[in-house]
Amino acid sequence: MEKKSTLLIVDDAPSNIQLLAGLLKDKYQIKIATDGQRCLDLAQSDPVPDLILLDVQMPEMNGYEVCRHLQANDSTRQIPIIFVTGKDQTEDEEFGLILGAVDYIIKPYSPAIVEARVATHIKLKQQNDALRRLAMEDQLTGLYNRHVLMDVSTKRISQAHRHNLTLSVLMIDIDHFKAVNDEHGHSVGDAVLRQVAAIFKQQIRTEDVIARFGGEEFVIILDNCDLAKGTKKAELLRAALTGSPIEGLRVSASFGLAQLRDKDETFEQVLHRADEALYNAKNNGRNRVELAD
Ligand SMILES: [Mg+2]
Repeated sequence: MEKKSTLLIVDDAPSNIQLLAGLLKDKYQIKIATDGQRCLDLAQSDPVPDLILLDVQMPEMNGYEVCRHLQANDSTRQIPIIFVTGKDQTEDEEFGLILGAVDYIIKPYSPAIVEARVATHIKLKQQNDALRRLAMEDQLTGLYNRHVLMDVSTKRISQAHRHNLTLSVLMIDIDHFKAVNDEHGHSVGDAVLRQVAAIFKQQIRTEDVIARFGGEEFVIILDNCDLAKGTKKAELLRAALTGSPIEGLRVSASFGLAQLRDKDETFEQVLHRADEALYNAKNNGRNRVELAD
């Protein structure tokens, strides 16, 4: 069964919440808040709402302010907001839409119209989420794609520099992958890539970033890892790979590891050093880990 989408209904008058919740509770999972601060908290807690129905006139923080806060925060910006309000001046509606709300419903409303508009915006949200996933994921392996890797890594690295944290970059290339494709066909090659990705994903911590860099190349960002810890990690990955035949084949990979230098080393620079170490691993016989100087 498909998971129900979640609506967050925000209104300082409980009777208004009851009315809307009564109308929508069969189709959606409902969260409720009677003030702006509670709305901001719930917008960031699981399950994150797919849509917020937001009253405008509330004491302390009004709906417009709540909307501004939601829009200013990276983790809540993508949640669509519909204002539900008794303010029926055109300027009010314009103001709400300028703030970034997707729609504006004026009380008293027709229940059928509320249901229809909510359904429309939930559908748009689902389509947007699917597009975001498509844009971020490598389609074959479900790992991050190269584009997201560059973005996320740049952030991780400036964080590491700022707080003086250790960080290492691991670059991995499957050995003799071309021969797999040539001898067994591309569908086997694809299956190998998917399985290798799954094995790596199983071995890393949730905070580690892993991406398919291209072809049969993968990159892993290891937070709080120096060369010694990173080597242990890489050896674990190497052993996990050689320990489990994939599609009846013995698959191995070569690993290049580089630790971020202090000062201003960029992601491109540390990645380049990891790539050089990987090149050495290939030259020194493959199925091994080499460290950058
Ligand atoms: Mg109110």
